[in-house]
Amino acid sequence: MPELPEVETIVSGLRESSLRRKIKKIKVTCPVIVNPPGGLAALTGDSFTGFDRQGKYIKITTQKGLRLVVHLRMTGQLFLAKNYQPDKHVHIVIEFAGGADTLYYRDIRKFGRWIIVPPRRDFADYIHAGTDALAIQQEELARLLKKHGAKALKVFLLDQTILAGVGNIYADEIAFSLKIDPHTPAGRIPPQKLLRAVQAVLKLGIKNKGTSVSDYITSTGARGNFQNLLNVYKQQNCRRCGAAIQKVKLAGRTTHICPRCQS
Ligand SMILES: [Zn+2]
Repeated sequence: MPELPEVETIVSGLRESSLRRKIKKIKVTCPVIVNPPGGLAALTGDSFTGFDRQGKYIKITTQKGLRLVVHLRMTGQLFLAKNYQPDKHVHIVIEFAGGADTLYYRDIRKFGRWIIVPPRRDFADYIHAGTDALAIQQEELARLLKKHGAKALKVFLLDQTILAGVGNIYADEIAFSLKIDPHTPAGRIPPQKLLRAVQAVLKLGIKNKGTSVSDYITSTGARGNFQNLLNVYKQQNCRRCGAAIQKVKLAGRTTHICPRCQS
């Protein structure tokens, strides 16, 4: 599942390439992905004026005032291409005027959603997420740690209603960078230390254009690079010390721990 660094990479790529380009044609072949179905037809003749992100959600605004929330969920891919032959997993095609690259939405599992925010409603009504993990300030994190600090670090990091954007990959890497076992109650970590670790790991992920371990690709269809820098996630041996990585279930997810670095 794309996490904050992957979604940020996609959003910044779209911002670079697709802003203010006139939309010529929209094709939706799997209407259930769009809510309400048929709602994207209004985009014809419009243009995108903003691509933003909160946690793993993409927020899109248009010239004519349409607002969209896109959530890629498990296998959603959003990329620009020229001369690309869509396969059966491409469900939305957005063509721009002037020969710009076409925008494709491909989603094997079809769990992703494109939601049109009705007038007089807020983005917040359709984004079920707490404060963005990259934008959060120390005071707010301290308040969250006071309230939810009894939860294991990994549970705290994965709960999108507390802190938005961290998923399984980055949660394991953050615990590793803190040199602590992810079962440790989050409240035992000083807020400043946790903030630094969360944001340093996420920023390194963004710098490396995300982690391609399953379906994720960037907005240009390329793979990310962060999978080559992972210390514990899906590793046989710890990148730092070479010890065999332990795999345990925590928060219902496979969790990777270096028994030597994180004891
Ligand atoms: Zn180690």
